[in-house]
Amino acid sequence: MSGWLPYALGLAASLSTWLGGFLAMRFCRRRHLLFALTGGMVIGLALLDLLPEALEHRGGLHQEVIFLALAAGLALYLIVHRLPFGGHAGRASLIVHSIMDGLGIGLAFQISHETGWLVATAVLAHDMADGANMVGLSRLTASPAATRRWLIANAIAPMIGVSLGQAVAIDPHQIALLLALFAGGFLYIGASELLPRSRLAATGRGAGLASLLGIGLMAGVVQLAH
Ligand SMILES: [Zn+2]
Repeated sequence: MSGWLPYALGLAASLSTWLGGFLAMRFCRRRHLLFALTGGMVIGLALLDLLPEALEHRGGLHQEVIFLALAAGLALYLIVHRLPFGGHAGRASLIVHSIMDGLGIGLAFQISHETGWLVATAVLAHDMADGANMVGLSRLTASPAATRRWLIANAIAPMIGVSLGQAVAIDPHQIALLLALFAGGFLYIGASELLPRSRLAATGRGAGLASLLGIGLMAGVVQLAH
């Protein structure tokens, strides 16, 4: 297994986070379309790829255990996004979230190349939205200079996560559980973080169509990948 690949994808995730934030600073008004599209993409990937893969690789595990792991993944992200971090709650939890994105890539590449790529796709698909989120949150209270510093911190986070994920050894028997955990996490990000933001600024049908397009895009990618 090529050891550099997870780090390269982690770096791509970092750049994508930064680019999303940069674009959000430039094109403030169109931000909701980015949230809508990427929200659809992460939900599509969770439901059309990660969850079916988890069920397929469950071996002797009961189906209910897989769905329990799915719920646990969702709950884990829910908790992370509500951790009390003082006055910087939203931004700090976004950084923890981005570390977990990287951690997912690092762990998934230990499972297999294919799983690594799938998780990396889901992370890369929504990381621009993570960066845009950071800018959106930061601009509510902070100066443009402080916003840029928060964005850089958020962009470094996936790389830290990949390093952690590569350092931890995982048992191949836990593949299905990890896939279901990731699926739950991505469902949370899509349904609870990205889609609600896409509706805040949406005036027409654009955001809804962008979300459907995101789901359709991932359905296409999944078909091509198998
Ligand atoms: Zn993310």
